[in-house]
Amino acid sequence: MTKPTKKKIINSLTLQKEIFGDDLFISKKKRATTIIKEPASVYEEPALFPEEKESWEKVTSLDGLEKLICDCKKCRLHQGRNKFVFGTGNPDSDVLVIGEGPGAEEDKQGLPFVGRAGKLLTDMLKAIKFEREEVYIGNIVKCRPPENRTPMQDEMDTCLPYLKKQVELIKPKLILCLGLTAAKGLLKKKESLGQLRKNVFEYEGAKVIVSYHPAALLRNPHWKKDSWEDLKKFRKLYEDLSG
Ligand code: URA
Ligand code: SF4
Repeated sequence: MTKPTKKKIINSLTLQKEIFGDDLFISKKKRATTIIKEPASVYEEPALFPEEKESWEKVTSLDGLEKLICDCKKCRLHQGRNKFVFGTGNPDSDVLVIGEGPGAEEDKQGLPFVGRAGKLLTDMLKAIKFEREEVYIGNIVKCRPPENRTPMQDEMDTCLPYLKKQVELIKPKLILCLGLTAAKGLLKKKESLGQLRKNVFEYEGAKVIVSYHPAALLRNPHWKKDSWEDLKKFRKLYEDLSG
């Protein structure tokens, strides 16, 4: 064999090896090992093992959780978001306030309840002797629905595990659920807001009270009286739980 021909063959075999790996060159026994190895790497895909935990599920701090989920694209709401709205407040709070989802101002700032409804929420909390910074505030969905539409059930279901993880980390004693959508998203209840307001529910070890959303109160101020009754009930429950 001439030198150039030998070189060509070696080059060609090297190229094949690069493309096909050792499979073409190794003994039958070894090949069997390689073939078993190949599908094993496919089986490492987490999607095939839904029971396997995602890394955000294992974090032990709110900051760590936010870092791991802030680029989430699990539901269609990521498409229109400007900023992801994780939630804010005291990470050790006994009180968690849950709204529906970010609006325009929240989407701009990346913070929950910073618009007009947010200002009313701050005043409502103050009226029952809570500073805004003292509690933790979040939403059922973390990305703004287009045109502020109501989040859809599948969007809420997709996002809820994040809120559940926040509840696990914050360990609030009490949750104030604002509006029917938030109540449906969190508690999966089908009753009317009027019905839900009358009860105290449980979520992950916390007591839950459902009341009016501040945006609804801005539109229908005549609900403020009932809202005030709910808030007083909430404060009383807080004091009873705090001993
Ligand atoms: N409405 C909500 O439900 N959440 C916000 O963060 C702001 C307005
Ligand atoms: Fe992910 Fe929740 Fe945003 Fe949907 S709303 S993309 S689930 S963070």
